[in-house]
Amino acid sequence: MECRAGAIWDDGYLAYDFGDHPLNPIRLDFTMRLARSLGVLDRLELRPAHAADEQQLLTVHDADYLAAVRRASDDPTFSGYGLGTTDDPVFAGMYDASALVAGGSAAAATMLWRGEFEHAVNIAGGLHHAMRGYASGFCVFNDVVLAITTLLAAGAKRVAYVDIDVHHGDGVQAAFYRDPRVLTISLHQDPRTLFPGTGMASEIGEGAAEGTAVNVALPPGTNDRGWLRAFHAVVPGLLRAFRPDVLVTQCGCDTHHEDPLANLELSIDGQRAAIAALHQLAHETAGGRWLAFGGGGYGLVRCVPRTWTHLLAEATGVQVAPSTPIPAEWTKHLRDIGYQGRLPESMGETVLRPYEPWQPGGEGWLDGAIAATRRAVYPLHSLDPDDPRD
Ligand SMILES: [Zn+2]
Ligand SMILES: [Zn+2]
Repeated sequence: MECRAGAIWDDGYLAYDFGDHPLNPIRLDFTMRLARSLGVLDRLELRPAHAADEQQLLTVHDADYLAAVRRASDDPTFSGYGLGTTDDPVFAGMYDASALVAGGSAAAATMLWRGEFEHAVNIAGGLHHAMRGYASGFCVFNDVVLAITTLLAAGAKRVAYVDIDVHHGDGVQAAFYRDPRVLTISLHQDPRTLFPGTGMASEIGEGAAEGTAVNVALPPGTNDRGWLRAFHAVVPGLLRAFRPDVLVTQCGCDTHHEDPLANLELSIDGQRAAIAALHQLAHETAGGRWLAFGGGGYGLVRCVPRTWTHLLAEATGVQVAPSTPIPAEWTKHLRDIGYQGRLPESMGETVLRPYEPWQPGGEGWLDGAIAATRRAVYPLHSLDPDDPRD
């Protein structure tokens, strides 16, 4: 099945650069080079990004925070509003670089809603930790919230957001915690063991939005099969019940077993299966409208380029087989710029074995976490938490 896909790309994305920091924008360049070498970019339309203007950003952030980011862009000694910290150090041009990423995600939302594409991807987006009034977790402006707000303003009645980053999608959840039009689902490493410390099953939304915040807190060490079991036990049932106009996904790949910042154990192949499942669910539950963002991912060479190339390929409807060799020109580029570490050899890593579907009454941390999430929100969607078919 070929799909009409667009991606937003701008070399200006590489200016979102905290310096000596785990989030290195070179991962985006490595991804685009790999996708180009494999012919993936030939099958989708690339569009440039334009910086989000102040009026757009004010729909997501407070005016005094925007002023602070502007000041920080010119003043390397600035601190406050979460800026000038180890996680979010200030850098010259921070405002413009952040506004460009946000503008890219907003543009992807607009193009998608107009029907220019069935699927739109912004791999620089997915900055899900930024809050209304402060920076957090490497995120300055919350491009995801801007994209969803853009969809709602354009006429979308219901938007579902699925966040598969290893960290809780706290900024997006917070923005829509009392808004029943937006279903946020985040699968992440248990927050008692990882930043940002929120995202337990008990966080379900408030008021009329009860049940529209969903959290699956996965035990450290969760592998492909466990992760996919949890995903399929929670996400398809909720999306089928919610029937969104658009499926928005944050596809952070810091769930990888080599990721330096977290402790899940997914392979490239598990991440690819997750992305394929999201694509299928967009067609099944959201009229095919799928807006996909990047997110975390600190395996700059061995993880991000492969997984997000799979994301771009998935959006075109033409997958790249895991056995596909890494193109020699990509490898040569990495060596030419002086990279001396171990390079990937093919687009996959492992043979993905089928997962055991979740059943009620299972023992252990993972099945307990799945059951806790289902019990917390399934009844609010008229679904049976104990019926594995729901
Ligand atoms: Zn499709
Ligand atoms: Zn993350």
